[in-house]
Amino acid sequence: MQIRTRLTLLYLLTAASILAIVLFAVWWTYKKHTETVFFQNLESKAALTAETALQEVDHLPPLPVRWLEPDDTETLPYRENVSLYNDAYERVFTLRPEAVPLPVKILQNIQQHGRQQFRHQNLHVLGKIMISPANRPFTIVAEGFCDPNELNQLRNILIISFIFGIAAMAASGYYFAGQALAPVSQIMDQVKAMQPEDLSHRVETGANRDELTRLAETFNQLLDRVEQAFRVQRMFLSNVSHELKNPIMAMRAQLDVTLQRDRDPDAYRKALQSVLDDVRALGEVEEKLLQLARIYNNPAGIPFAPVRLDELLLQAKEQLQKNQPRYRAVIDPGQLPESDEILHVSANEALLRTALLNLMDNACKYSPDKRVLVRVRFQPDGGHLVEVCDNGPGIAPEELDMIFEPFYRSPQHQSSVKGTGVGLSLVRSILHLHGVAIKVLQPEEGGSVFQLKFPVFGRT
Ligand code: ADP
Repeated sequence: MQIRTRLTLLYLLTAASILAIVLFAVWWTYKKHTETVFFQNLESKAALTAETALQEVDHLPPLPVRWLEPDDTETLPYRENVSLYNDAYERVFTLRPEAVPLPVKILQNIQQHGRQQFRHQNLHVLGKIMISPANRPFTIVAEGFCDPNELNQLRNILIISFIFGIAAMAASGYYFAGQALAPVSQIMDQVKAMQPEDLSHRVETGANRDELTRLAETFNQLLDRVEQAFRVQRMFLSNVSHELKNPIMAMRAQLDVTLQRDRDPDAYRKALQSVLDDVRALGEVEEKLLQLARIYNNPAGIPFAPVRLDELLLQAKEQLQKNQPRYRAVIDPGQLPESDEILHVSANEALLRTALLNLMDNACKYSPDKRVLVRVRFQPDGGHLVEVCDNGPGIAPEELDMIFEPFYRSPQHQSSVKGTGVGLSLVRSILHLHGVAIKVLQPEEGGSVFQLKFPVFGRT
């Protein structure tokens, strides 16, 4: 069932129940009021008769009884009567001699309660006990026909109002449900029109701050992420071919030129060395891509163990200086905790070392003085902070999101600094695997700070 129909039905059901209860209450209250007024009328008639007849009642003989034919008993032939009965349940006075006396059982009931009002056949009856001058109890009974026409008319009016009310509510409910859901249909139409080739379109959000606007906004945020993923994928494909093609072309050109004529051993050595450098660079890219693929493909299969973070940083520092003797790394461990336990983090040692090494390598690579400062602040709850600080050119704010994408290289470094563009995307994947948050800070004094925040113990 469509939401529009379901909403209309629910609304109709609720409104119809409320309307039915209200209309019934109106009818019931009016009926009770009519009856009360009618009985008040009967009471005054009984009082009037009692005033005149009660003086002589002690001397009145019982009246003869005239029984009605059996088929007359449902509807009495008179509309009003007042009668008096003595303590032997004999009628001693009546305005309508042809009226049938009340059954003894009813009279006993009145006597028992002192006063009773009830319906008898088609009449409303009020019975009351009165005391005669001779101190004998008499029952005075006033009967009357309460015309139900007015009440029936009111009932019919209420039923017709109910039917019209329901019809009007169904129509308005269906219309408003349609109006309320129209933006959903619009969103659906807009989404249907979107194609993977062009993800730049967004769903219209409208001016109201309602749930549907928020739904459209959430959808647009999802589209932002999908577009970003597509963009990264496209960039990855074009960059990967570019990054692989360039060194291969360079090696080929170098070898072509070298082989054009005979050369002395030194020239061959130089050429081979240059080719070897390019092969190494290619090997590095391939190694990083392999690691990335491993993390993406089977993160659950990567083993974790407790590792001392301070030792890991020292190992990364040594590796850095061994790879590039020009680079200098300084580690500021802050205040070391009392217990060695706190220095441990749960990690894949090789991967986390690679991430730290990459960050230190970048810091040195992009700093004119080729130095990096690694500040560590150990926290008792395990949420350690590691800041890799350099005094390089910093990173442009618009590039902050892109530098972590595979193969992204800032245009300002593309020709001046050698690189592959894979390092930071590998760093991000490794840190994500370890539950470590990474943030790039831009200190006022220049340079950049890559800040890592380790997860609090037991929360990876
Ligand atoms: P690569 O360094 O090989 O180019 P990365 O993925 O490590 O690749 O870095 C991506 C880009 O981020 C770099 O091209 C550079 O523009 C920028 N970058 C990374 N680290 C730094 C840094 N410490 N200072 C300035 N820019 C940096």
